[in-house]
Amino acid sequence: MKNPICYRVTALSDLWTGDIDGKRERLITTGLLGSIRWWFEVLVRGLGGSACNPTDTMCEGRNHCVVCELFGCTGWARKFRFEVLDENGNIKTDQIKQDRTFSLRFIPLRPIREEEWTLLDATLRLIAEYGALGGKTVFKPTDEANRASILYHKDYGLVQIQQFNGASREDLGAYLSLSKWRKVDHGEFTWTSLQHFWCVNGKYLGRENHNKSSFNKVLGRKEPKNQGQQFHNSATDVDRWLAGSQQESKKVFSFKAPARTFGFVKPRLIGFDAMKKRLQDVWGKDGWEFLTGENIIDQIFAKEEDCS
Ligand SMILES: [Zn+2]
Repeated sequence: MKNPICYRVTALSDLWTGDIDGKRERLITTGLLGSIRWWFEVLVRGLGGSACNPTDTMCEGRNHCVVCELFGCTGWARKFRFEVLDENGNIKTDQIKQDRTFSLRFIPLRPIREEEWTLLDATLRLIAEYGALGGKTVFKPTDEANRASILYHKDYGLVQIQQFNGASREDLGAYLSLSKWRKVDHGEFTWTSLQHFWCVNGKYLGRENHNKSSFNKVLGRKEPKNQGQQFHNSATDVDRWLAGSQQESKKVFSFKAPARTFGFVKPRLIGFDAMKKRLQDVWGKDGWEFLTGENIIDQIFAKEEDCS
């Protein structure tokens, strides 16, 4: 069996690794693993594969999707043990703070296929270079709008990973379309796919002053801070979807240092052009690049010699 695979990570901001009650000082590894799994699902769907979502209970035992194959589901154990280690190689139990270096270690418990390691490697690259790691960016019903607004000015989850193993797209298509995988109807989760993801590195949305918030403007909400949760009377279904609600997460995330903004579009509701237009309204047209999922897939799976 293959040796453990270890990724050295530097936290560019604090990581949200606490429990659901908001105890921030703890490190709950299931939260980090949940975040990694969530992005793994996004990647798999983006590559045309079938991935269940956390509310889906149909994956069970041998009848499961490609994500459950590696991460486990009822009656099917996860294929690896997941550990977070501190600088000295000891198990880390407290919150991961900005500028700290730590390791993510994946220890195989059963044989893990080359394609699975490739998908995991690509997932971590997606997180580090285009997304974020940790509980506050996992899109789930418990991500209440109220709590999100309290932590509004704080960045969580930006990480730098020192080295990737180098993911090749070769053979992934064949692996993802194996007939043994359970076919999942992605239904209302269809948008949580890399195909519908976008990212702008080097730009952020925020509150410029008391009366102006580029974040609220992009979401179609009223701009003054004290009305930030309110919509204009002319708010559209698109505005409401992007901003989320008590029941569902917002679909636009922005980080100030280092600057990064990313989010999702939804088929038949809002496309990339309309999303980009909203961003142009606050950033202007020049000096930034709007990367869509296709661009990102190309970059993640670029051959090593293409990388600078
Ligand atoms: Zn599944």
